[in-house]
Amino acid sequence: MGGADNFIKFAPMEQNLFVYNTLSRTKEQFKPLNPPHVGMYVCGPTVYSDAHMGNCRTYISFDLIFRYLTHIGYKVRYVRNITDAGHLEGDADVGEDKISKKAKLQQLEPMEIVQKYTTGFHDVMRQLNILPPSIEPTATGHVIEQIELVKEILAKGYAYEVDGSIYFDVEKYNKKQDYGILNGRNLEDLLTNTRTLGGQDDKRGKLDFALWIKAKPEHLMKWPSPWGVGFPGWHLECSAMSNKYLGHKFDIHGGGIDLVPTHHTNEIAQNVASCGQNPATYWVHTNMLTVNGQKMSKSLGNSFLPNELFTGNNKILNKPYSPMATRFFMLQAHYRSTLDFGNEAMEASEKGFKRLMNAFGLLDGLKASATNEADIAPLRQRCYDAMNDDFNSPVLIAELFEASRMINSVHDGKLKIDEANLQMLRDLMNQFILDVLGLKSEIAANDDLPKVMDMIVELRIDAKRNSDYATSDKIRDGLQKVGFQLKDSKEGTTWNKM
Ligand code: AMP
Ligand code: ZN
Repeated sequence: MGGADNFIKFAPMEQNLFVYNTLSRTKEQFKPLNPPHVGMYVCGPTVYSDAHMGNCRTYISFDLIFRYLTHIGYKVRYVRNITDAGHLEGDADVGEDKISKKAKLQQLEPMEIVQKYTTGFHDVMRQLNILPPSIEPTATGHVIEQIELVKEILAKGYAYEVDGSIYFDVEKYNKKQDYGILNGRNLEDLLTNTRTLGGQDDKRGKLDFALWIKAKPEHLMKWPSPWGVGFPGWHLECSAMSNKYLGHKFDIHGGGIDLVPTHHTNEIAQNVASCGQNPATYWVHTNMLTVNGQKMSKSLGNSFLPNELFTGNNKILNKPYSPMATRFFMLQAHYRSTLDFGNEAMEASEKGFKRLMNAFGLLDGLKASATNEADIAPLRQRCYDAMNDDFNSPVLIAELFEASRMINSVHDGKLKIDEANLQMLRDLMNQFILDVLGLKSEIAANDDLPKVMDMIVELRIDAKRNSDYATSDKIRDGLQKVGFQLKDSKEGTTWNKM
């Protein structure tokens, strides 16, 4: 059966999903090639240093996309690679390999550097509740596949060898194909706007890029190849690994928007040259986290690390921010808008996150009425509409705040909800807060806390029963000082973290 027939048979709601495609510069209806399966490839980190918050924004955005596609019933194979070789200091094949350079500086094996930063990256992903991808392949684990790909591109006549290095011939490729297809630029335009960099004398054209680079004797990470000892060019690994795990054509290819002009443009050229097709139907790009309007980047010196944010240990931070407040801050912006980091904006998000989670915490204790004044179905539809509109998480969050207001009103006895609507509200909050947005209560992270809190609340009830108001007030005020609020009502006493 053809892909289109499968798609119609699949499920009704997701036919409304629209995704912005960098290739067409429009939002397109999402039609996977082989539903219910979806193949998604996202360029992963170069593990020569700690991932900064900008990098994390990109992985949070794709985590949202992964989670939503899964939520609406797709079986997603999500491949996110680890770049552990081949990424030079300059993206245009100049300078040293980033990992080799760090290894030399620290007098370590390159694989020690790779291990250290891969482990650190995984720790941060876990703290931010970013789900692991289905496959996380490494460049060094796929050198054979990369050499094979170079051979294919050479055989098709789109690459040339100079003294043990192989370069992709962009001008020759552009005679038959559109090299600038991804960012909508023509070759003349690209040629006039590209600087010629030093150390690239072997290239015939200034847009040509390395597929395989001859290793100097002192180079640490190198492999034998038909062209001598060398190492793969940075763009090659993603073509080789996406081909291997998702096939020559898959659904979504993603990364930060800064990857469009070089890395992804070159990846498309490699794939078209070797197997005749652009690898992905939808090219999805996340916008940048900025600081004072400037892209957060290690080389600009304005980056900070997740751990600095979580501990408050950086001069630009007024205070620490928790991983979930940080995740919430990121999700309050649409993934295609720039997001400027600032203490004020972070503090507002932190408050918003607490408000949302406080309402969420009240859900279990809500009592259904015989009559209903809270119609949840339209709200639920608006949540799906938001996500179906190119994963619009800020609009979704605004709808969830609307749900929170309803929850608070029901809790305060100002709004009635019947059993069916209450159940729908519970499902909605669970699905969108936990499954789709990937948020979690930070107090729930400590499993023993609710038990301890229940015990303290019991002690206070005992004190009140014995008319020992001094003790009961002391408990309430003491808890308030450490950030817990007690709320007394006819039903009893509830607590929440402020
Ligand atoms: P790298 O480790 O430099 O290869 O980058 C890993 C990913 O983070 C890539 O998809 C980049 O596009 C993305 N990235 C880098 N800087 C930022 C930033 N300031 N904001 C959002 N994403 C970024
Ligand atoms: Zn890549």
